[in-house]
Amino acid sequence: MEEKGIGRPATYAATITILTARNYCSKDGKYLVPTELGRKMVEYLEKFFSGVINVKFTAHMENRLDDIAENKDEWHGVVDSFWNGFKDLLKNADASSVTMKSQPVETDVVCEKCGHKMVIREGRFGKFLGCSNFPKCKNVKPYEADEKKPVSKCPQCGKNVYALKTKHGKHFYACEDREGCNFMSWDIPTGEKCPNCGKALVRKGKTIKCSSCDYKL
Ligand SMILES: [Zn+2]
Ligand SMILES: [Zn+2]
Ligand SMILES: [Zn+2]
Repeated sequence: MEEKGIGRPATYAATITILTARNYCSKDGKYLVPTELGRKMVEYLEKFFSGVINVKFTAHMENRLDDIAENKDEWHGVVDSFWNGFKDLLKNADASSVTMKSQPVETDVVCEKCGHKMVIREGRFGKFLGCSNFPKCKNVKPYEADEKKPVSKCPQCGKNVYALKTKHGKHFYACEDREGCNFMSWDIPTGEKCPNCGKALVRKGKTIKCSSCDYKL
């Protein structure tokens, strides 16, 4: 973004947080790696919205917005000209039958409602188990991460976070560095820090929120 001159430095961190929190990409060391969902989303956007999802458009729009802010242009005209083009793009995309669904991965977990196998599906909020007999059976359950595989990176120190169980079988998430860092959380940490207060962002049901302040995505 910096190279292409788009966005504002203040928005870079928030952009990366949203991309990872919504599962469009994951972090590998200092690199961002697109997920399957992320690749599909880009494919979709490029197919239907290439007119507005491109660097030239973004830079141009930012300049026009700056002009409005500096009273050099009038916002009605700017919004009008954008909307006239955009509503046709929307109509086209709506009429298409493209889906963001990823290929399900089979598991040995048996659906307790109908006896079919459950499959791992990937949605906007990460992985979950869904019945392979969908749409006849709509059973879904949380995807219990393999305890030997890290669920995310520690928002405090960047090491691995694992899902663990208490004596009573309740799950929690803890940093592998139990001596130095000692991060732990009842909710799944996304691996990101809150842009407001710097504490861990966690996934609670369908929302991503800060473990400390009111911040919510
Ligand atoms: Zn089922
Ligand atoms: Zn840690
Ligand atoms: Zn916060």
